[in-house]
Amino acid sequence: MKEKKKIIRNVEKSIQKYRFYIQSAFALLCVWIGIQFYLFTRFLESNGTAPFYNRPPGVDGFLPISSMMSFYYFISTGQIIHSHPAGLFIFAAIVLLSLVFGKAFCSWLCPVGFLSELIGDFGEKIFKGKIKIPKWLDYPLRSLKYLMLGFLFYAVFALMDIIAVRAFLESSYNQVADLKMYYFFADISRTSLIILASLFILSIIIRNFWCRYLCPYGALLGLVSFLSPNKIKRNPISCIDCGLCAKACPSKIKVDKVLTVISDECNSCLSCVDACPVADTLDLKSIYTKKKISKRIVAIGVVSIFIVVTGIGMMTGNWQNNITKKEYLVHYKLMDSYGHPTGTAAVKDFNKKSNLNEISNENKTTTNNNYDKK
Ligand code: SF4
Ligand code: SF4
Repeated sequence: MKEKKKIIRNVEKSIQKYRFYIQSAFALLCVWIGIQFYLFTRFLESNGTAPFYNRPPGVDGFLPISSMMSFYYFISTGQIIHSHPAGLFIFAAIVLLSLVFGKAFCSWLCPVGFLSELIGDFGEKIFKGKIKIPKWLDYPLRSLKYLMLGFLFYAVFALMDIIAVRAFLESSYNQVADLKMYYFFADISRTSLIILASLFILSIIIRNFWCRYLCPYGALLGLVSFLSPNKIKRNPISCIDCGLCAKACPSKIKVDKVLTVISDECNSCLSCVDACPVADTLDLKSIYTKKKISKRIVAIGVVSIFIVVTGIGMMTGNWQNNITKKEYLVHYKLMDSYGHPTGTAAVKDFNKKSNLNEISNENKTTTNNNYDKK
């Protein structure tokens, strides 16, 4: 007969309430940024006659592609392009966060992740539980976000050299990318509305539909999270195989069947740790020191990393962009004519033109210098 294990009850308090507070605070911050940005657009729409409101730099956080390219440019050259400098620091904070705590940004800070969770909770109430997607459908769908990320990587890292990356970051299109994004939602087309409504409905039926299958940002953070030394670890000796951890996992990870959770879908929400009824059986631990990382440290750490890295951007004067009111008024009138290269041929062409422009600018500087000498 199987010997019954002696159970020491897990009496640690759940962290989920605090995770909800942090998510709510961050979502409110995003709403505040949205209101400020709306007031800023009113100034542009009135051709400068309405009161001027500063553009909130935090809006750069909603430009992940531009921010990623800015980060790449900074890593490669040590220079900051001042079209959307806040985006660089927000992106760096999120990557650092993923290196330390795995994909924690998705479950602790991301407003889209928070909204997905709320919609998912609503769906579970309607359908009285989680809807299971068969593996044959789940795996190919999960690969979609990697396909999108792969194309983005190919376009930026394989088709563009660093001169073209800078040309893109300094282009008029990138300078108004935030305005274009705003008007995409403010003047939403019928097709886009249908797509958004479909995503909403799918998120009710399938929990985290957007995050699990389509978000390329989540795909990137999932890859970075593999490098994190801190993972959810299960102690098989004290584990009573109740399966509550797997049941609580919103990412459908079989936590009860593994010793260490190594998954691009784990977003460090700690729901499994909270669900475990046995003390010291399921915890976030460093794979090197084997030491347990308390849930409170995760909550404080996530918020602190974000505040410190973005704070460095603010304190070093690299938070606000360098686009003047006058330039914005001109951009506003012309922005419908601004485009970006789409498709591999267009990206290659953009790369070639950027290099030709660079050479002609260099020639001009040399000629001017020669004239100066004369
Ligand atoms: S494994 Fe645990 S921490 Fe990771 S997503 Fe599932 S419940 Fe959250
Ligand atoms: S919740 Fe998971 S780790 Fe904890 S005892 Fe049950 S099966 Fe084991």
